Amino acid sequence: MNPSRKPLVAANWKMHKTPGDTVSFMDSIQKETGPCEDREVVIAPPFTALAAAKQVLKQRGYKISAQNCHWEEKGAFTGEIAPVMLRDIGCEYVLVGHSERRHIFGETDEMIRKKAASVFKAGMVPIVCVGEVLDEREAGKTFDVVGAQVSEALNGLSATQAEKIVIAYEPVWAIGTGRTATPQQAQEVHAFIRERIGAIYDKEVANRVRILYGGSVKPDNVDALMSEPDIDGTLVGGASLEVSSFKRLIQFLK
Ligand code: PEP
Repeated sequence: MNPSRKPLVAANWKMHKTPGDTVSFMDSIQKETGPCEDREVVIAPPFTALAAAKQVLKQRGYKISAQNCHWEEKGAFTGEIAPVMLRDIGCEYVLVGHSERRHIFGETDEMIRKKAASVFKAGMVPIVCVGEVLDEREAGKTFDVVGAQVSEALNGLSATQAEKIVIAYEPVWAIGTGRTATPQQAQEVHAFIRERIGAIYDKEVANRVRILYGGSVKPDNVDALMSEPDIDGTLVGGASLEVSSFKRLIQFLK
């Protein structure tokens, strides 16, 4: 982490927890952790639990995010949710381009670019997920793959929007596998992403962007990851589902 950027700890609950489960989790974590002044905590429950999550937000520093959205404002898109609908129920962030969306649901860089732009247009901030699969890492293509994903997501965004974006580097081989990137492997890619943003905009914009690491983040590896200068937070799946482990992840380096 770097003191000039506020760290962000995000929970991606995927297809877990009902509204009732969400209320009890949110009550407990806020009671046990208290207000967060020096870090932001973002919870992304399923769509059906967003309204319940919003109603029980009490402590400073806690926010809610959706896990996905469509890029259009309205229309004949059965089963989809528009960014303005998410903003209306109190979301401040939307996850865009998670590897499960890319690989299971066939989302392309172009769809992700349109989603990121429409999230900004609706007054929220996209958390854009990027990352290479194992074959790409082993073939030495990590920087090419991640660089292209970052460039495409930023395509068409103004510098003012770009400096607010959150990028989550999530090597696909580390998601849900228990196999984390080492802090050095993660830092190397985070520094590369920041450099790429600097080349597209400028150094000031690049220095403001928060870049999260995701992929089997756990209580026993969070402090080492967060000690790296370009890691500004974590995006957590499995370990965000239990109050005790998520509390520890919020309290990194304390
Ligand atoms: C994720 O799905 O974004 C993720 C990082 O999952 P996990 O922490 O379980 O690897």
